[in-house]
Amino acid sequence: MKAARMHEYRKALILEDVAVPDIQPDDVLVQVRACGMCRSDVQLVDGYFRKYADIPTPITPGHEIAGVVHKFGTLVPKSAGLEEGDHVVVAPGWGDGTCRHCRVGDTHICPNVRWPGFGPYGGFADFIPVPARYVIKVDRRLKFEELAPLTDAGMTPYRGIKKLRDARALAPDRVVGVFGIGGLGGYAVQYAKLLGSGATVVAFARNPKKLAVAKEYGADHVIAVKDKSLADIGRELRDATGQSDLDAIIDCAGAPEMIQLAFSLLSISGHYVDVGMVGDRIDIPLFPRVSREQTFHGSFWGNNTDLSEIMALAAQGKIRHTVKTITFDQINEYLDRLRAGEIVGRAVIKF
Ligand SMILES: [Zn+2]
Repeated sequence: MKAARMHEYRKALILEDVAVPDIQPDDVLVQVRACGMCRSDVQLVDGYFRKYADIPTPITPGHEIAGVVHKFGTLVPKSAGLEEGDHVVVAPGWGDGTCRHCRVGDTHICPNVRWPGFGPYGGFADFIPVPARYVIKVDRRLKFEELAPLTDAGMTPYRGIKKLRDARALAPDRVVGVFGIGGLGGYAVQYAKLLGSGATVVAFARNPKKLAVAKEYGADHVIAVKDKSLADIGRELRDATGQSDLDAIIDCAGAPEMIQLAFSLLSISGHYVDVGMVGDRIDIPLFPRVSREQTFHGSFWGNNTDLSEIMALAAQGKIRHTVKTITFDQINEYLDRLRAGEIVGRAVIKF
């Protein structure tokens, strides 16, 4: 089969022919039909995660996977309801099934978690073995290239927005900010409208082209932040919404300067959820966080429940996509473009 594999950190992937992987008795073999390209694929290649997990090479990247059930392991129960040819998405975050996080369904934060695309097998290949409990059957009418990004870009902000909702930070008299309108932010704006209990949604980004996407997806207001002072941005926010701070923030970028800006705009008792990881260090003053009783939520990817809910929204036609399909041969070119921040929406490899 075809696979694009990483043999060395900081080098281009090698497009090669390799053996179709064997499957374990409780796996299904998924034939990949589409795989999204994520900034974290670039970060993997660039070594961002190396200090947290030094994964041995060769690695097959690609964790946003949609495809078709090709064959089953001998122990996959009938009750799984899967048949060869079923259209599926792959839920990431394969837990050990025994820890307390797995037992409540949060397999993606299991201390012994495995992820597709961060080891020998990933979605930048024709086939991937997947534990049967991590495939979710989907509506056949949905397009593979739109399903694939929903397993990360379209799921990570969903879980983040649910955290803001469950913290009761969203209501008709509240303003929620979406920071960074890249692969994740376009979805975050839509979920802020769908799950936001009527809160006013304001998108913040540096790139006006990306803000146009936010506007199209229902942001009530958009604010371009490039080369503007905090005071200017606060004034623009007040003109748009009647208040110069934000009751809730979802940060889809995680760039240090955007985080500093976001925290400067966070209201008393505001909630801040971060799902973006462009940077890895932040320098923010502590006293306002304490005296204003603000809450920071880490939110990582999502679990089977989150993904099943998103598949229901997709089947109802409630999610819009900005997808650029590319071919297998264009993988390295698009990793470079992703690294340069040039991609609006999601680049998706179509097989
Ligand atoms: Zn576990």
